[in-house]
Amino acid sequence: MALAIRAVAALSLLLGGLALAQNALVVNGLQVAGSTNELVQGTAYAPAAAFASALGARYYVDTDTTVATLQLGGHVLEAQVVTDPAKAARADALHLDGRGIAGTSAVIQEGTVMVPVKPVAEALGASVAYLQNEHTVVVVQPRAELTGITTQGSGPGQQLVLHLSAPVGYSRFFNQPVATLQLHFDRTSVAPQLGGVVGDAFVRADASDTGGGTDVRIQLADGSGYQMYSLPDGAGFRLVVSFSAGGGPARASAHIVLDPGHGGPDPGIAFPGYGSEASLTLAFTERLQKELQARGFDVVLTRTGDYGVSAQTRSQDGIGADLFVSIHGAALPAGQFHAYYLGDATGIDSLAMAVRQNAQSAVQSQDISALRRSILLGLVPQLAVGRSFAEGLGTQLFQSGGYRSSDTSGAPLYVLGGAAGRGVLLEFSPQDLASTTLPTDLADALTKLLASGGATQ
Ligand SMILES: [Zn+2]
Repeated sequence: MALAIRAVAALSLLLGGLALAQNALVVNGLQVAGSTNELVQGTAYAPAAAFASALGARYYVDTDTTVATLQLGGHVLEAQVVTDPAKAARADALHLDGRGIAGTSAVIQEGTVMVPVKPVAEALGASVAYLQNEHTVVVVQPRAELTGITTQGSGPGQQLVLHLSAPVGYSRFFNQPVATLQLHFDRTSVAPQLGGVVGDAFVRADASDTGGGTDVRIQLADGSGYQMYSLPDGAGFRLVVSFSAGGGPARASAHIVLDPGHGGPDPGIAFPGYGSEASLTLAFTERLQKELQARGFDVVLTRTGDYGVSAQTRSQDGIGADLFVSIHGAALPAGQFHAYYLGDATGIDSLAMAVRQNAQSAVQSQDISALRRSILLGLVPQLAVGRSFAEGLGTQLFQSGGYRSSDTSGAPLYVLGGAAGRGVLLEFSPQDLASTTLPTDLADALTKLLASGGATQ
């Protein structure tokens, strides 16, 4: 990389008189053309497509919403696109995984979308330095290590999980004649002693260093297909590969239990203009049931009218379900939601939420303690399934309808106890619960997750 920086420095000396105000941009030792610091005062901007490609990120622009999106290592960075550079400083300019971050928006200039280099690079895990004498912005991404190849679940719904220590780009190639999925990770080495893995839903997976990068070869079982998704994990990410036998959804007949929150003497939150949470969740859940039934699932509700149902009964209804979804309303802006899975609280917010939910459903504190203890002792089966489901919903609902999860966390929710790891509790805004689009979008997201093995085993 030092060599490349010197080359760029030499080049900028040569061109110095011609391109005084132009900054050069070097990403991982390679120059990215077209960057400028003249668009927005004091801020280096680069052409989004070329910059994303240099980072190994996926990139697309939604022309309806004028949002530019870069995806890397399970993270989603979105930049509002403005046409007037003077309007680049705006409160909602950049979002990382649905949360606002500091920085200026993207600017479209002569048909090219330009993004601010520093906030985008840093949000995606790279470090940024400015070499003043050389008018060069240097972006360096950490190298990654493939630290593990593991399986999750067993049988036909088994998933293969690749653990990467840093966000790096990857490419894939499916070699049809030999039914082998080949993944190539940029700037990644294989952890010492990392051996191949054999599976139920695939034949075997092996990793090898390729000098600079890492190749993973996954031999699929005859006639099976695959889907992949990435989840952020610490400073790195997990790439999850799900397999499906012989095409088509893996579990079209999955048994889904939907739990409309509150009811009867417990109306939940009153939303002015929308009625009670109890009535909103029931009407919404009935529409969601129809959407899921139309997709071939077997769907039952924990309540079908305005009456009270105890948390114990709701929880018991979840026993044996492939998926249990508890629906609640919350004072959220439209388009935002919270997804909770069964786990010990991951933060003070999720613990407070669990205390509130458990208290509303009049669960005894010793029952909560027993649940928390079994979670902490690892006695609740399939906890990882619920987590990957809640995290997967964040991605799927974002992709299908632009919904943002502003909180995805584990919480000791009694109502999810029966379904063990196969339960999620979702909170939506009253506007979305009353909308005609959320039932379809959520049904689509759940169908994709069930088909990809998110909740099958
Ligand atoms: Zn509620």
